[in-house]
Amino acid sequence: MDIKDKVIIITGASSGIGEATALKLATEGATVVLSARRKDKLNELKKTIETKGGKALVVIADVTKKADMEKLVAKTLEEYGTVHILINNAGLMPLSFVEKLKTDEWEKMVDVNIKGVLNGVAAVLPTLIKNKQGHIVNISSTAAYQYFPGGAVYCATKVAVKMFSEGLRQELAPKYGICVTSIEPGAVATDLMNTITDEDVLDTLAEMQKMTMLEPEDIAEAIYYALTQPSRVNINDVYIMPTEQQ
Ligand code: NDP
Repeated sequence: MDIKDKVIIITGASSGIGEATALKLATEGATVVLSARRKDKLNELKKTIETKGGKALVVIADVTKKADMEKLVAKTLEEYGTVHILINNAGLMPLSFVEKLKTDEWEKMVDVNIKGVLNGVAAVLPTLIKNKQGHIVNISSTAAYQYFPGGAVYCATKVAVKMFSEGLRQELAPKYGICVTSIEPGAVATDLMNTITDEDVLDTLAEMQKMTMLEPEDIAEAIYYALTQPSRVNINDVYIMPTEQQ
């Protein structure tokens, strides 16, 4: 499938994987709708995309708020008339050991990493069903398969994203031609670790951070691959590890 002129909503587009994916897809001719909470970062990215001849719209939205996600889709429809693809990328990873009972951080992860994905899907689905085509890409993680220190809750959220993706695919792909892909990266060099407040986890992860991680652009390429297959092909999962990661 050619993504030229496809309208693609990307959550968490203000940094890391979301930003790199927006740049890649816009460079390949897609119209990208950049969403997150940090307006300045999104406007900067929009400018970069437009300087390169691409098309972008900025819509500020918090994925944990249903009304924001509905507004995100409504603004996209108002501007471009339709939406073809949703990339549910926004996520947080405040890792901590369970015994520390950082329950506010657990809740945040559930709200952003799981409910944020549900809110995105609920907002966009009526349009994709009406179009009888489309693609939903959810960013899960290798954490859906593998526990790592401090990751009990984070890994659980990513298992939920992976299994929700499979449920979506089985319900939507045969009936409506809507493809669903779960992207499962290992360690990627982004700001994701900045939300960790548990010093013991930070100590444990210090060694791991010495390895060469994936770059956000590597994940953007994987997403592009999943999106550009012929319509008969659904890429269910893309599991990507840094060469140096166990
Ligand atoms: P970043 O921290 O660079 O990006 C996270 C993005 O999520 C930001 O754009 C942030 O935007 C957005 N975000 C956070 N909370 C909200 C919210 N409530 N509403 C809307 N947007 C929100 O990290 P990554 O690029 O690494 O993370 C992207 C995804 O990739 C996440 O789902 C993460 O779990 C997953 N992932 C990352 C891996 C890694 O090693 N980096 C490995 C595997 C998966 P803003 O603050 O402006 O709202």
